[in-house]
Amino acid sequence: MTNRREFLKQSALAGGLLITPIWLKAGISHSHYTLPALPYSYDALEPFIDAQTMQIHHGKHHQAYVNNLNKALEQVDHNLAHQSLEDLLRNLDKLPENVRTAIRNNGGGHWNHSHFWQIMSAKPTKPSNSFDEYLTNNFGGFLKFQEAFTAKAMGQFGSGWAWLVDTGGKGEIIATPNQDNPLMMPAYANSKILLGLDVWEHAYYLKYQNKRGDYIGQWFNVVNWPEVERIWQKG
Ligand code: MN
Repeated sequence: MTNRREFLKQSALAGGLLITPIWLKAGISHSHYTLPALPYSYDALEPFIDAQTMQIHHGKHHQAYVNNLNKALEQVDHNLAHQSLEDLLRNLDKLPENVRTAIRNNGGGHWNHSHFWQIMSAKPTKPSNSFDEYLTNNFGGFLKFQEAFTAKAMGQFGSGWAWLVDTGGKGEIIATPNQDNPLMMPAYANSKILLGLDVWEHAYYLKYQNKRGDYIGQWFNVVNWPEVERIWQKG
């Protein structure tokens, strides 16, 4: 069956034109996922996270994950492509091998960054009494939690993420490499993912260079605790 896309491709070739129309590129014609708008301006997290980092991180890195995820999904069965992103990430082993790594990296990248923008806030917030109590029960207090989370994020060799997850009321801190996330891990696939921290160098290098610890310390100033608690309380 010749669809509009094939027709245009063929007529372009017949006419000797090899320039692909912009809307045919990067899966735009079948675009499924889109880059979510930031809930604040690029400079809103200054001075803790600089505007240029935010602009490149959101506009270039996250956009590339979205584009490449859409491109990979064009190659899979329609029903599979229209599963929720969460279900795709929970069932990577059910994906055809030729797109599995692309969906793992770019689907993970899209999910992780969409989460990351939401759990940061331009205005300072703090944990409520009930969440503070949760942190105390699970980690011995807010500062102990911060210490353990920081250690986990520091200990992630190379690119990756640190996470606070809740499994049936039990809080746990874990780390994942690359753009992997807890949904991909059988033990946490159905946990609530409360808080994720991007420790890829692209998240901090312009301002903090090699000082990941400084970035992590300052990042705690912009955590959006009401959003973390909204996820925590979700049924
Ligand atoms: Mn990132």
